Parts: sequence; structure tokens; C-alpha cells
Amino acid sequence: MNKLAATKNLDEIITKVEGARLRISEHHIVKIIGVSKYSTADDVKTLYEAGQRAFGENKVQDLKEKSETLDDLPIEWHFIGTLQKNKINNLIDLNPTLVHSLDSLDLALELNKKLEAKNKKLSALLQINSAYEETKSGVLPENAVEIYKQIIELCPNIILKGVMSIGAHVEDEKVIRDSFKTTKKIYDELVPFGAKYCSMGMSSDFELAIASGSNMIRVGSSLFKE
Ligand SMILES: *Cc1c(COP(=O)(O)O)cnc(C)c1O
Repeated sequence: MNKLAATKNLDEIITKVEGARLRISEHHIVKIIGVSKYSTADDVKTLYEAGQRAFGENKVQDLKEKSETLDDLPIEWHFIGTLQKNKINNLIDLNPTLVHSLDSLDLALELNKKLEAKNKKLSALLQINSAYEETKSGVLPENAVEIYKQIIELCPNIILKGVMSIGAHVEDEKVIRDSFKTTKKIYDELVPFGAKYCSMGMSSDFELAIASGSNMIRVGSSLFKE
């Protein structure tokens, strides 16, 4: 990917994010996570030079390789993929800024146990399957608040910072919007319990997600395209 494409892609996304967030409020700040899972460390570097600072990966091994290759850059690394229990220790050792994909109480308990053993803490979001899609991970909306509170109570080494959702995988805009609204409503309930991030919106639907209250978007294909 060349520098020109990186700058153009980033500018286009920032312009759209600005438009969408200002329609809510000038105080509504949206953080952009560049999802580099289909891209090389070189591409990440090019986007870093264009001004992007936060990147996300969905495989522990890829996160390890890219973050180690780019160790000299002050990049904020996020983990956004399904976390297998046998990869927990590897992920902890990479000190990610935020894990978006804590998708069950069971996984939280296991993660907490391994964090305790290493005497470390880790920031995470609870993933909610707000579209009720069988192919997606996450807790069901009706259980989310209760599970969030249980994690706070039972997992002192996990610093819960909010929620994450993937929008409904359909064409109908109303269905996608409803899935985002479901997550936003849960987020609002969790703000008194310390929730700060409502991570939702990808390349195809981030403007809709921001209109529904997202304050953190995860864009891959639209940022890394040639
Ligand atoms: C791949 C991925 C994204 C980015 O998707 P694009 O459509 O390429 O923007 C965002 N979130 C998660 C969890 C992903 O796996």
C-alpha cells in the first residue's frame, strides 16, 4: 500500500466520522481502530506515517508478529478476535491496550486466573451478540448487564471498559440499526459501572453505528484498500 492511498483512505474515513459524530454532539468523540488483519506490518507502518495510531488484530499470532516487527513505533494494539483459551497466556504477554472480544463469563474467569498468576491486569470489553446470530460470539443482550456485573465482582484483574458488538450481517439498514441500538442501550446501563467504550461499526456500517451512539469504530477494508 502506498502513502498516497493511506492518506486518502484515512482522510475519507475521518471526514465521514466527523460528519457522523457532529450530528450527535461536538462532545461526542469517536476513536478509530485500524483493523490490520488482512494487511502487512509494512502497510501498518504506512498508515502510522499517515497519522493512524491504534490498530487491531483478530489472531494472537498475527498481533505478536506485527507488534514485534513495529516495536519501535508507539502504536496502541487492540485484540478484536475470538480468544481461544490456549492462547490466553500469549495474549497477556503482548500487553494489548484493549481486548474487545471477551465473549463469556467462562472466558473471563479463565483470563482472570491467568492474569492473577502473572500479577497483571488487562482492559477488556464485553462482546454482545446483539444481532442474535449463531455465527457470532458474545453474550446475549438479555444476559449482558448481569454478566458484566459478575465479571466486575469475580475478576479483579480484568478492567472492564465497556461493550463491543458486530452489526447484524444483513442488507436491511433498520435491522442493523436495531442491533446497534440494543448494544447502546446496554452500554448506557453500564456507564454507572465504569463503561467508557461502545465499540461498534466496521467499514460498511460505521456511520450508522456512530448515529446509534458508538464511540469506537473498527475499520479494516476501507482503510487498507489500494
Ligand atoms: C475484520 C473485523 C473488522 C473490520 O472489518 P472491515 O469490514 O474490514 O472494516 C472489525 N471488527 C472485527 C471484530 C473484525 O473481525
